[in-house]
Amino acid sequence: MTMLCKVCGCDQFVQHTPIWPDLIRDWQLTPSEAEYINEQQGTCCRGCGSNLRSIALASAVLQCLQLNCTLIESIGTDRMCGSSILEINEAGTLHPFLKNLPKHEFGAYPELDMHAIPYANDSFDLIIHSDTLEHVPNPIHALVECYRVLKPSGSMCFTVPIVVGRMSRDRAGLSKSYHGQISTRQDDYTVHTEFGADVWTYVLQAGFSNIEVHSFKYPGALSIIARKV
Ligand SMILES: [Zn+2]
Repeated sequence: MTMLCKVCGCDQFVQHTPIWPDLIRDWQLTPSEAEYINEQQGTCCRGCGSNLRSIALASAVLQCLQLNCTLIESIGTDRMCGSSILEINEAGTLHPFLKNLPKHEFGAYPELDMHAIPYANDSFDLIIHSDTLEHVPNPIHALVECYRVLKPSGSMCFTVPIVVGRMSRDRAGLSKSYHGQISTRQDDYTVHTEFGADVWTYVLQAGFSNIEVHSFKYPGALSIIARKV
């Protein structure tokens, strides 16, 4: 089946291999797991440059807002323009489009502390974050904060790298593992949590009443929609 980019609609992709041997070793990825994580981070649309991670997130946002179009097409819709959106950390290649929305707020990571999100209760219709939660020391607390600033019936769409064949683990006590380019390693990009098949438990423990695991392409391109009902 032809794969269509949910950001721009293009059907042409190119494969890079962005993860490196030290990360595969620290993460203890099997060859097949490394293959799909590479696909998630490095299979990129030729049209807009989005990787599968960003495309899976775009797909979740569109489903959440019940929009049957690409993300680029959605930017002019009443539904998108009328939604108050908090984007925490740049959501990959979605950011250049989201930032033009009239009710969009952006919080750069780590300047925006997910343990103390600087907005009042019930502020947003939609919260978006992408591959950020694994770098936060206490992910459940960060999700509690997302829940707090969402309006009743608001939703959160996010991605984290998920290794589907194992349970999540906290890397406390293990050697430091980093994401991002080797040349730009910073403590802010230390991995605190490696998410696995039980990723949903973090969301429900934070108070959300509903979670959907959204698959753009299984298992490498998953995103999560959580609702505050
Ligand atoms: Zn694209």
